[in-house]
Amino acid sequence: MEAVQETCDSCGKELVPGAAYCEKCGARTRRARRLGRLAVRGELVFFLGVLAMIGAFVWIYWNQN
Ligand SMILES: [Zn+2]
Repeated sequence: MEAVQETCDSCGKELVPGAAYCEKCGARTRRARRLGRLAVRGELVFFLGVLAMIGAFVWIYWNQN
């Protein structure tokens, strides 16, 4: 389990608990960066799912004729 980040990696200022950004310099916290990566991955999976669905519909459409 990762310890809660208490100070900014960039400027060293104390962070508000659970903050996504440093109040002083605006740098993202480690927690925010990790959540950001997860969000990107989720969108990618969703996008691939939509593509697969469109492909399946096109395939079914062309095989009806
Ligand atoms: Zn900072």
